Amino acid sequence: MGLGEGWSVKSCSFEGAPLELLLKLDFKPGHRFACPECGTCGPTHDTVVKRWRHLDFFQYRCELEARVPRMDCPEHGVRLVDVPWARAGSGFTLLFEALTMMVCREMPMKAASELLAEHDTRLWRVVAHYVEQAQAKRDWSELKRVLIDETSSKKGHRYVTNFADAQTRELLFMVEGHGAEAIGAFAKELERHNARPEQIELLSMDMKPAFIAAAATFFPKAEVVFDHFHIMQMAGKALDEVRKELLRDGADLKGSLWSIRGNAWTRSSTQQQQRRLLSEAYPKLGKALGLRDLLQEILSQEDKGQLAWWCRRARQSRLVPFVRLSRSIQRHWNGVVAFMRTRVTNGAMEAINGLLQL
Ligand SMILES: [Zn+2]
Repeated sequence: MGLGEGWSVKSCSFEGAPLELLLKLDFKPGHRFACPECGTCGPTHDTVVKRWRHLDFFQYRCELEARVPRMDCPEHGVRLVDVPWARAGSGFTLLFEALTMMVCREMPMKAASELLAEHDTRLWRVVAHYVEQAQAKRDWSELKRVLIDETSSKKGHRYVTNFADAQTRELLFMVEGHGAEAIGAFAKELERHNARPEQIELLSMDMKPAFIAAAATFFPKAEVVFDHFHIMQMAGKALDEVRKELLRDGADLKGSLWSIRGNAWTRSSTQQQQRRLLSEAYPKLGKALGLRDLLQEILSQEDKGQLAWWCRRARQSRLVPFVRLSRSIQRHWNGVVAFMRTRVTNGAMEAINGLLQL
């Protein structure tokens, strides 16, 4: 790692439990640092202790610590100087950020967060920075269809909303926050890229009321599409509720989870047989499974008559979660039908695989 002129390693020790490698850096006395604004060199005013996570040293987490000088610029006043190994304001070294970007390109954020043993919110910030940098000079004047996806951090306290081009599947913009606030920020961002909200013809998103309201406000010309990915997620939840209700009533469903979840074609033959037996023993479960699979098939086609038929059937099923899902689809009818027609989908957007084309 190039520390750059003026810096050297002062000490190197293993500390804490579990053990971590801590590298303490210091600057050479009398070194004159440059103002981050104008580059003028000046005397050191005082110092601030900072820490950065660096690449692991074998199995040990590694951190750098340094007293970072604040220099006194005749024009800009007292300013924290830039260090050569990290971006201003980042808690990671440049090399750790490069690793983060490599890992995030290959796997969903949740997996990346586990692999790097780092909070996903901090990783999102790194990704957001490089996406912004990559997009800074891009022209979006041809952008027409946009995918919107919201992810919350593991603890659910923070949200990140991602915007991607549906045609190129390239990540355009990421913003902390969600709902109307995030969509408003994206509408504003368009101006910086030679684009206007009126040119957006289609927005693909989930059925959150805040998203829908904000789409109408900020993108009046855009058709809203609810993609099958989110609808099938809702169907999966409805099925799960039916299963849980049966469990509460004392049904013996132990070990049945994997034969129920997921697609018919990814199940093993044992699982398929188990599923048949369960459906016979518990007709409610059989009905719920049937409804879920039917919906999936109908969404893969373009016949809205079939969808209307499914909604009627779900309403008459007496399975409360499916009655609710049916109402939800009917309330968002145009957006669901728009998906069947346009087939624009957010699928796998949680994993930013392929979206990071920097
Ligand atoms: Zn200056």
